[in-house]
Amino acid sequence: MKSQAATPRSASRLFATYVIASLVPVLALGLVLADTYRQDANERGLSEGQAEAALLAHTAVEPLLDAHDLRNGLQPAETVGLKRMSNEAVSTGEIVRLRVRALNGKVVYSSDGTGLNDTADDEALDAAHGEVVADITRLDADDNPDGPQGIRVAEVYRPLSVNGRRVGVLEVYLPYTPIAHDVTAGLGALYRDLGLGLAVLYLLLAAISLSATRRLRAQVARNAHLAEHDALTGLPNRELFHRRVVEALDDAARGGPEIAIAVLDLDRFKEVNDTLGHSNGDALLVELGRRLEVAVGDDTVARLGGDEFGLILSDRGDPRALRSALQDIRQLVQQEIEISGLPIAPEASIGYAVSPTDGDTADTLLQHADVAMYDAKSAHRGVARYEAVLDTYDSSKLALVAELRRAIATDELVMHYQPKAAISTGEIIAVEALVRWNHPDRGLLYPDAFLPIAEQTGIIDSLTRWVLATSLAQLNRWGAGVEVSVAVNISARNLSRPDFADGVLDALAARGVAAERLLLEITETALFADPDHAASTLRRLVAAGVRISLDDFGCGQTSLSYLSTLPLHEVKIDKGFVLDMLADRSHAAIVRSVVDLAHNLGFEVVAEGVETEQILAALTDLGCDIAQGFLLAKPMPAAALPGWLAAHQLPAVPASIP
Ligand code: C2E
Ligand code: CA
Ligand code: CA
Repeated sequence: MKSQAATPRSASRLFATYVIASLVPVLALGLVLADTYRQDANERGLSEGQAEAALLAHTAVEPLLDAHDLRNGLQPAETVGLKRMSNEAVSTGEIVRLRVRALNGKVVYSSDGTGLNDTADDEALDAAHGEVVADITRLDADDNPDGPQGIRVAEVYRPLSVNGRRVGVLEVYLPYTPIAHDVTAGLGALYRDLGLGLAVLYLLLAAISLSATRRLRAQVARNAHLAEHDALTGLPNRELFHRRVVEALDDAARGGPEIAIAVLDLDRFKEVNDTLGHSNGDALLVELGRRLEVAVGDDTVARLGGDEFGLILSDRGDPRALRSALQDIRQLVQQEIEISGLPIAPEASIGYAVSPTDGDTADTLLQHADVAMYDAKSAHRGVARYEAVLDTYDSSKLALVAELRRAIATDELVMHYQPKAAISTGEIIAVEALVRWNHPDRGLLYPDAFLPIAEQTGIIDSLTRWVLATSLAQLNRWGAGVEVSVAVNISARNLSRPDFADGVLDALAARGVAAERLLLEITETALFADPDHAASTLRRLVAAGVRISLDDFGCGQTSLSYLSTLPLHEVKIDKGFVLDMLADRSHAAIVRSVVDLAHNLGFEVVAEGVETEQILAALTDLGCDIAQGFLLAKPMPAAALPGWLAAHQLPAVPASIP
C-alpha cells in the first residue's frame, strides 16, 4: 500500500508547510503595523510636548520678560520671576528643566544652573530664527559619554516673543512619562486589536488551508482508489491484483500459506455484448464480480480486464479440495442470471496455478494460470490446472521449439501413411498422413512429442503447410499405381486462420491434385473454437471439392443440430471407444449410436483403432463403413505403400454378417 500511505502523509506535510509559511507574512505585517503605530505615537508625543511648551512660553515665561535683548543678560526682577515660576513648575513635576537663551544662543537663565557656560547649540539657533525644535530624548543625552541615560524627556526649543518682538529662546525639558501615558493609552488597545485581528486572519488562513488540505487528501485517496480499482465492478484491477499476489508470495516465503492464482474467463462474452448491447454486458460483469466476491470470501478477486477475473486463493493443502473449490466457484458464476428480463447462462473457464509447484513469482504464476485458462477453454475442461507441458515458455521446451522450426525447413519431418479400407469390399480407399520427426539425436519422434508445442507456438501453421505439400506431392509421386485419397490432419489453430482455405486450395493447384482426393480430418474442438468461421471455411473448401472428416468423434459435446449444419463427409469414431468396445458396454453403445447418427445425417462412418478381427466383425455388424487400424496396417513410409497395397487386402469379413 506504499503509494496510498505516502500521499496523505505528504498532504499533512503540505499543510504544516503552509501553516508555517503563512505565519511569516502575518507576523511581518504585525511588526510593520506595530512600528507604524509606535512612530505615530512618538509624533503625537512630540506635538503634545510642543503644545505644552507653547503654553508655558505664552502663559508663564513671556509675561515675566520685558522687550529687550537678552544678550546682555536678564534684569534682576526677571530672574527672580523666572526662578519662582520654574521652581514651582519643577516641584510640581510639570517640567524637569527650563532654560532661557538669548537670540545668540547663550543661556541667560537655567532652572538648575546647568548649561550657563555652554556654547550655543543648533536647536537654540534654529529656535532663535523662529522655528520650534522638539525631540524625545533623555536628560543630558548630549553630555553623557556612555549614551543617553537620564530620564526620558521631551526637549523643546521655541522662540520667545514679547510685544511682537522676538527676544530669546525657551529651552524646556518636559517629563515624557505623562505624555507617553497619554499617547500610549490608546496604543495598548490598538496593539491588542491588531494582535487579535492578525490572529483571526491567521486562523482564517489556517482554516482555509486545512479544509483545502482535507479536500486534497480526500481527492488523493479517491485517485489512489481509482488507480487500483476497476471503475465498472469496483473490484481491484490488474495492478492491485499483481501487488497482492506479490505480497501473498512474500508472506508464503516467510512461512505463510502457499497460494493458488486462478484466472476466470467468460466463454462467448462477446456474443452477449454483441446481441444484448454493451450496457447489458456491463451489467453481467458487475453481477459476476459480485458473485465472485461472495464466493471467495476473504480471498482476493480482481477484474483483470475485459471478461477476465483473477482470484488469489489460499492453498487448501489438498489439490482436490482446491479443484473442487474452483469448480464450486465456476458453478456459482454459471448460475442463470436475468439481464434486462432475459435469462442468461454465463459460461466460464478457469485456469489456475499453485505456488511454489507451478511457479514462485507473481509473473510466472499469473502467466501459468493464463496458459491453463486457455487450455481449459480450448479443451472445454471447465477448470484446469497449469501443466508444464502446456507452456510454450518453459525453458526446456524452448530449445525444442527452435529445433522444430529448423526441422520443418530441413525436411527432418517425414510422413507415414496408414491405409483406410472400405469394410464391405476391402478396398483401400484412402491413406491418413501422419507426421513423424526424424530427430538427429533422439530418433523417430511421434506426434505427441512435438505437436502440442507446435500448436502452442504457431509453428503448426508451417507444419501443416509442409504436411499438405508433402502429402499431395506424394500422391503424384506414387502415380497411377496408388489411386487413393489422402487424409491430412488439421489443428484447431490452422482452421482459425483467415487464409486457411486459400492455402489448401493453392496447395492443391500447385501440385495439380484433384480436390476430391484430399480429405481434411478436423476435430470437434477445432470446430468449436469459432463455429461460424469454421463453418464458412469448410463450406468454401467443400465447394471446391475437398472432403471433410470429423476426427476423434465421441469425445466432445458437439450438438446434433450443429453437426447437421456442417458440410461433412465422414465421422471418425475416436479409437478410445473402438479399442475397448468389446469390453466396455457403454463404449459399444456410443459406437452404435454414432454410427446411427452419422448415417442419419448422411455421413460415412470410419472406425479407427481397429486392432482385432473381433472388433472388425462387431463394427461390420453395426454397419460401420470404413476401418483403419493396426489390424490392417500400421502407418508406413511412403515408399512402402505401393508394395503393401499390392500384397494386402482387408481380411475376409467373418461369417457373422447375415
Ligand atoms: P489421429 O488423427 O487419431 O491419428 C490416428 C493415430 O492413431 C495415429 O497415431 C495412429 O498411428 C494411431 N493408430 C492407428 N491405428 C491404430 C490402432 O489400431 N491402435 C492404436 N492404438 N493406435 C492406432 P500417431 O501417428 O501417433 O498420431 C497421433 C495424433 O497426432 C493423430 O491422431 C493426430 O491427431 C495427430 N497428428 C498426426 N499427424 C499429424 C499431422 O500431420 N498434422 C496434425 N495436425 N496432426 C497430426
Ligand atoms: Ca486423424
Ligand atoms: Ca483420431
